[in-house]
Amino acid sequence: MGSIPEAAPVVRVFIAGGSYAGLSAAVNLLDLGDGLSPRMAHEQYTHHPSVPKVNFQITIADERDGYYHLIGSPLALADTEYAKKAWVKFQDIPGLQLPNVRFVQGSVSNVDCDAKTATVVDSTTKESVTHQYDYFVTATGLRRVWPVVPQSLTRKQYLLEVETQINALDGAKDGVVIVGGGAVGIEMAAELKHVKPHLKVTLVHSRDKLMSSEPLPDECKDKALDMVKESGVDVLMSHRLASSTKVDSSDGSSKYEVEFTNGHKMTASVVIMALSNSISTASYLPSSATDPEGLVKIVPNMSFEPSTPNAASHFCAGDVAKWSGIKRCGAAMHGGHYVAYNIHQSVLQHTAQHKPKFQELQEIPPMIGLAVGKNAVAYGPDVGVVSGPEVMQAYFRDDLGWGICWDYMQLGSRKEDVKTQETSSS
Ligand SMILES: Cc1cc2nc3c(=O)[nH]c(=O)nc-3n(C[C@H](O)[C@H](O)[C@H](O)COP(=O)(O)OP(=O)(O)OC[C@H]3O[C@@H](n4cnc5c(N)ncnc54)[C@H](O)[C@@H]3O)c2cc1C
Repeated sequence: MGSIPEAAPVVRVFIAGGSYAGLSAAVNLLDLGDGLSPRMAHEQYTHHPSVPKVNFQITIADERDGYYHLIGSPLALADTEYAKKAWVKFQDIPGLQLPNVRFVQGSVSNVDCDAKTATVVDSTTKESVTHQYDYFVTATGLRRVWPVVPQSLTRKQYLLEVETQINALDGAKDGVVIVGGGAVGIEMAAELKHVKPHLKVTLVHSRDKLMSSEPLPDECKDKALDMVKESGVDVLMSHRLASSTKVDSSDGSSKYEVEFTNGHKMTASVVIMALSNSISTASYLPSSATDPEGLVKIVPNMSFEPSTPNAASHFCAGDVAKWSGIKRCGAAMHGGHYVAYNIHQSVLQHTAQHKPKFQELQEIPPMIGLAVGKNAVAYGPDVGVVSGPEVMQAYFRDDLGWGICWDYMQLGSRKEDVKTQETSSS
């Protein structure tokens, strides 16, 4: 063990993606750098006596100008007040206003793992800037289409985008058809009916079970169907969309003729495609780092597989990681925490000849929490299928999980507040 260095080592961490996975990595790194236990740890972290602190210089690059609570999309696209809450500009997140945290608004376009550089195309000027780093974290998730997710990159533009959609829904006198009975379609249909009970909302699904592509027990799928119906949504199972054609209406309002492959026809004012054709965002990485679907190949300590240069300095968490389990925000935050922990262990390995003890990601069995209007249904291997308002409260509270995620990441606390809590609980 060496003597305590005079100054904390300076370590540059570049995080691509500023949402659940990326921000969780950042906040836990800040704690570790300050000699604290990571805020998401269940056990006290023992710091190395020779390296009690690390000066993490964190750069977070995101295409958006803020943290967007993606889970809240079904409600944000139906309720203007909630939409305002769901997107918080990075400059307005109290817990991240620190001299060693820098936000860059732009798209990460290229990463040279050999040279350890990341290039970002600025969202406004379109100019490319290259950043050097010691550790890189891939946390850019999956790209999802409109209207599953708003496409705007600034909060200002997003509020206009959402407003346009909400106005269209308000005037939907021939009803709204939501195509796709996966988790997203179910939540969209139920939230819409919940917020605008006067609307006729129809959910259509091509198979005979909802969430048919998820490895969940039938009991969970059946419960979801019961709950959607109870929420007042009309459900058409085993209906595959053949066409949706805009037709003239007598009063000039929006009208579509919707036809299914079984011959059934109906009209609607708005047709929403809620099909999950999400694609990887990691095209900026060398092809050695990703699988044919573009997901990042990681080992259990969440660093890249060794086929990529400097693999041990490159980590990945969240939806874009190739790992078992249904893509969930809880898994993204958990992954971000482990990435922070393991980067810290790696720093100790290089500065204090410490033998690293990495956190290792286990196989994740299928599990889900699904909000269906005022109710929720959840499934996990330990609890089985549970449902009801109390499940809604536990998994989502009254804001589709916004407060749960915000509080878990402690985005509202300044660093000093966190330290005070740590001291008083130790
Ligand atoms: C409608 C909907 C409802 C959902 N409901 C639930 C739910 O109830 N419970 C649950 O657990 N999960 C739910 N999910 C899944 C959950 O949202 C994801 O698992 C979670 O968002 C993954 O987090 P992440 O940080 O990996 O990625 P994301 O949340 O997708 O964040 C990625 C970030 O990276 C940024 N980015 C992307 N590409 C680039 C680039 N090239 N350069 C810079 N920045 C980039 C994006 O702007 C974004 O901020 C839902 C998803 C959707 C779409």
